Amino acid sequence: MAINEIKKTPSGSKICVICHKEVTGNALKVKDDFIINSIRGVKRLFRIAQNNKLFVCDKDINVHKEKRKKFEKELLIISAIVVIIILLLNGLPLLSGRFQFSMLLSSLFIAILIILFAIVFKYAPAVEETKDLISSRVNTSKVIGGLKGQGEKHKRPLQKIKKGGS
Ligand SMILES: [Zn+2]
Repeated sequence: MAINEIKKTPSGSKICVICHKEVTGNALKVKDDFIINSIRGVKRLFRIAQNNKLFVCDKDINVHKEKRKKFEKELLIISAIVVIIILLLNGLPLLSGRFQFSMLLSSLFIAILIILFAIVFKYAPAVEETKDLISSRVNTSKVIGGLKGQGEKHKRPLQKIKKGGS
């Protein structure tokens, strides 16, 4: 089983995003999303990409859940504040007839920067719902999880066979 796992991950190791240690037990796989792909892209550009597979290990799941919840909340608050700032910066001059397009552009630019900084420093990625198997004990659960995930693909041919046989 362990050999299979090594074959599956020829590049990089499985690293927990919370404790930054190599994952050895049960773990949740981090979803590859736009932000993670962007960070990876930047790292590749600077040739510092480690191509590690990102996980959250069992003991850190609750820590990560809290972090994720906090991140979602903070991003919402920051976005709301940014929207209010943009409205004030552009709305007040507009009301007094001194609207400047350059002000709109620069306030949008600052807004994007603020949100980007918030993401970079606070980011907590989403994780897959099913546990990824790393130890042999978890292997069966991944098989079950995999079947659930690709259930439609697996079920259809089986049903066809059954129908054809009866
Ligand atoms: Zn961990």
